[in-house]
Amino acid sequence: MTDFSDLGLSHPLLAALTAAGYAKPTPIQYQAIPPVLGGRDLCGIAQTGTGKTAAFALPILQRLATAPRRTAPQACRALVLSPTRELASQIADNFRAYGAGLPLSTAVVFGGVSIGRQRQQLARGVDVLVATPGRLLDLVDSGSLTLSSVEILVLDEADRMLDLGFIHALKRIVKLLPQQRQTLLFSATMPRPIEVLAQDYLDDPIKLLVAPAATTAERIDQGVVFVPSDQKRCLLAMMLRDPAFARVLVFTRTKHGADRVVRHLAATGIEAAAIHGNKSQPQRERALAGFRDGQFRVLVATDIAARGIDVDAVSHVINFELPNVPEDYVHRIGRTARAGAAGIAIALCSDEERPYLRDIEKLTRCPLRPMPASPVTTPLQHRDSAVDQIAASRPRQGEQSSRPSQDSIPAALVQPARQTEKAVALPKDTATGSSLPAFLVRAPSELRASAGSRNVRRGRMPSQRALGAH
Ligand code: AMP
Repeated sequence: MTDFSDLGLSHPLLAALTAAGYAKPTPIQYQAIPPVLGGRDLCGIAQTGTGKTAAFALPILQRLATAPRRTAPQACRALVLSPTRELASQIADNFRAYGAGLPLSTAVVFGGVSIGRQRQQLARGVDVLVATPGRLLDLVDSGSLTLSSVEILVLDEADRMLDLGFIHALKRIVKLLPQQRQTLLFSATMPRPIEVLAQDYLDDPIKLLVAPAATTAERIDQGVVFVPSDQKRCLLAMMLRDPAFARVLVFTRTKHGADRVVRHLAATGIEAAAIHGNKSQPQRERALAGFRDGQFRVLVATDIAARGIDVDAVSHVINFELPNVPEDYVHRIGRTARAGAAGIAIALCSDEERPYLRDIEKLTRCPLRPMPASPVTTPLQHRDSAVDQIAASRPRQGEQSSRPSQDSIPAALVQPARQTEKAVALPKDTATGSSLPAFLVRAPSELRASAGSRNVRRGRMPSQRALGAH
């Protein structure tokens, strides 16, 4: 078994890891750190929440510290690009924490906040700069930053950075970098066409595939509830009234959709905040900080919060609407079950969204377990059969899930809204004391032992054991 000290990391970094409470390197860390220390280019694919940030931050800090150089004014030595402001900020925090014992400086720049302070921060130059591409180019264009002395480039969430939304900015940025540099790409997903494109940015890279691309983290227990669109909000509110939904991230497809969900929850007495691109940066930061520190337990988000965001102990991710890009599903549910914890992901799937569900299951090779909806969506005349179906759907020990079929979907769940009658009180689950199905409410810690056996991937199982097991 490898220890951090076997990887050639210096004492200040090892001390920072001890302070962070990391006992052992994760698979992506012990495989990536030595070649990155050796100066190699690298493309690393590993599941969400398995320590990719440290896998690049630690060796970068060590390389910069062992070849100390006075930073040139308005320049940086390592450049890390991230698709969202929140992720950029989080990566910079990680660099600062891991590099606490080293004489290296870190800055972060992104849009939505004053550029003046960022110019000041860059004036004397920094060792590590974490940036979103748009603001980085603004700083370059206004003469506040030069990229000609970058030694190391990292594309975090690399497939996102290389896709249509960012590729033009990225091409411009790469032209401004020295040809002679080290380039590192990291992601949990890597669609084949993007992987081909990525080769243009890498020189004789090491390719690490800790788990097949788009493999969902093993400790996420995944289910799907088939429910008409117009009943989703009621179902969500009912789920969230259960205290077992301790820290919940709800994803919608649109910004307005996120606001609508927050309003509906507020009307039912559930406090939630929204985070999406129409919010000001201070509002975004307040929403994420409030969710992180437990001020409110529900955050409703668009995909800007899908990638990389690391919040401790997210118990449930609810896909209120399924993403139309299947890779986004992998990233969304990856907000739970991080750093060796377990978590629950529930997709609310309407009839119109079934093609998206098929794409997701094809990508992840992991059929979602169909779950019954709640009493709220259960018409009276279906009560008994719904109760039976709930009982039948509870996992038995050693049971494996099967691919959802039309037959396996309780009839009660596909009734149009007008047939819905008043709420029906279902008998409480003896194990959980809740009227929701056990699967939906079981605390992640209870799932630890059993998760992984529930959602059985078709084809290859990932070889990686969960983080912390090493
Ligand atoms: P990341 O995938 O980089 O966002 O990391 C996911 C989570 O795992 C973060 O909360 C990290 O602090 C944590 N983490 C990273 N490396 C380790 C490790 N070796 N041992 C335990 N936790 C870790």
